[in-house]
Amino acid sequence: MGELPSLVYVGLGANLGERQAALRKALAAIDELPSTRVMRVSPLYGSAPVDAGGPDYLNAVAELTTTLAPQALLSALQTIELSAGRERPYRNAPRTLDLDILWFGDRVIDTPTLTVPHPRMAERAFVLRPLADLVPERVDAAVLQAVASQDIHQLEGSGWADAVVGG
Ligand code: ATP
Ligand code: MG
Ligand code: MG
Repeated sequence: MGELPSLVYVGLGANLGERQAALRKALAAIDELPSTRVMRVSPLYGSAPVDAGGPDYLNAVAELTTTLAPQALLSALQTIELSAGRERPYRNAPRTLDLDILWFGDRVIDTPTLTVPHPRMAERAFVLRPLADLVPERVDAAVLQAVASQDIHQLEGSGWADAVVGG
C-alpha cells in the first residue's frame, strides 16, 4: 500500500527435469506477481551438487523490484516452486526448482521462516558468480576468491531469459 519498491535478488536453481524451461517459467511467474517486475537476469551457470548427489544444477540470479513484503514474496516463491513440482524429501535433495531470497533491499531479517541475507550465500559460487555478474560492486572480491575452486561454469550469456524478461 504505497510502499516504495525494494530491489531484491533471488537465486534460482534446478537439477531435475527440464531445468532451463523450469527456470524460464519461474522467471515469467515471478514477473506476473502483483507489483513485481523481473528487471535483469544473470547468465546461466552449471554446477555440481554440493553436499548431495544427483544431476548437475542450472543456476542463475534474478534482480526484481517489488512492493510485496518479504514474507509475502517468500510465500509466492514457494507457490511457484510447488507448481514446478518441488518436493522436499530430505535436506539438499535434488529439486525441480529452488527459489531463494538472497537480498531484500538492505534489510536484515531473522525469523523462523525467513533469513535475509541468505545465510549460506557467501559459501556458494553458484550464487556469488551470477550475483557478481549483475552487481559486481556489491560482491566482495575476497569472498568470490574463497569459492573459486568450486565446480561451476557459465553456460550461456544473460540472453537465455530474454523471451520471458522483457525489461
Ligand atoms: P538452502 O537454504 O541451504 O539453499 P534449500 O534452498 O534447499 O536450502 P528449502 O527447502 O528451499 O531449502 O527451504 C527451506 C526453508 O528455508 C523454507 O521453508 C523457508 O522458510 C526457509 N528460508 C529461510 N530463509 C530463506 C530465504 N532467504 N529464501 C528462501 N527460503 C528461506
Ligand atoms: Mg537453496
Ligand atoms: Mg530454497
